Amino acid sequence: MVERSRTMTFSNIPGLQGVKQVLSEAAKTNHTAHAQLFVGTDGALNLPLALAFATYLHCENKGDDSCGTCSACSKNSKLIHPDTHFVFPLSNIKNDKDEERFKAEIRKSWRTFLTENPFGTLDDWTNSYGGEDKQALISREESREIVKALSLKPFESQHKVMIIWQPELMHPSAANGILKILEEPPPHTYFILVTNAADRLLSTIISRTQIVTVPLLSDEEVEGYLVDKHGVEVSRAQRTAQLADGNLNLAIKLLDNEEDNNTLRFTEWMRACFKRNYGTLVSIAEEYHGLDKLSQRNVMSYSINMMRETMLHVSGASAINRATGDELKFVQDFSKVMNLEKIEKSFKLMNDASYHLERNGSAKMIFLDLSLNLSKTLNP
Ligand SMILES: [Zn+2]
Repeated sequence: MVERSRTMTFSNIPGLQGVKQVLSEAAKTNHTAHAQLFVGTDGALNLPLALAFATYLHCENKGDDSCGTCSACSKNSKLIHPDTHFVFPLSNIKNDKDEERFKAEIRKSWRTFLTENPFGTLDDWTNSYGGEDKQALISREESREIVKALSLKPFESQHKVMIIWQPELMHPSAANGILKILEEPPPHTYFILVTNAADRLLSTIISRTQIVTVPLLSDEEVEGYLVDKHGVEVSRAQRTAQLADGNLNLAIKLLDNEEDNNTLRFTEWMRACFKRNYGTLVSIAEEYHGLDKLSQRNVMSYSINMMRETMLHVSGASAINRATGDELKFVQDFSKVMNLEKIEKSFKLMNDASYHLERNGSAKMIFLDLSLNLSKTLNP
């Protein structure tokens, strides 16, 4: 599931109340340090926070948060504000492409990455442009670009904001260039360095920045986000949050993986019901029996949900379908062989099965029974 482009405001980032407040207070009273280092461990939301803070600094109508609607906010949400600059590591994948075209392609990839994967890691970034097996660096040329960008006055805002992501991956000569700039910062410029490995940064860089520590989220914050933004049931959100240990990016990946598995399992199951493939149905029932209670419940509620999605599709209400990707493809295919009567019967059978499972019947028997009844319903 993908979160579509929205302004990266403080309120779109879960948790971190204390840090957000310190940042906005400093900005309101003109006390924002010219160079800050947003420090977090793997999975900390320091990059989205830097983005939200840049948006806040530029916002023309700010309160405790950015307004989200002014011209500056709108440009920042599309990542095209001329006074928000990004520096990020890149692998050497240029080959023999034209320089300008290559730069434009990379800027586009970067915008896509931040929009579709706002909590992504360095690996997610390098995978997104096909640089996974090559070391990513901030090159010396890049530091020249920084100097060039900073030599210009702000275009639309009162100041420029330069976000440097993963400064620990700067080429040594790039690092020296940056160091000089931090020593004598140009006027009207805020630097936000964003690191997940502060121990690998030059101490001279650390000493020239104000440190802002960005903690991981609590389990409750991750859980709340999964429930609110991803429509996940509380019990499943709880379990995922526990596994993810404060790392929201990991939590979202765990969910996506689980959804892929569920789709695959459900597709296989429905196909076996259709084809009256009893051997497969028995082994699916055995597999189901081997799951823990919570997973059994999740499979059942996932199946009921997919039936609901199919019903929406069959009844022409596909505009409100929530399924995407493989799930949507399944729903479309499944709709071709289903009608409302079959869906209604299947619904009832699945709900009855859930009821018996809750009363601790044998999972294998309940599941097998359900499969045989579904087979009859699908092939009347
Ligand atoms: Zn605004």
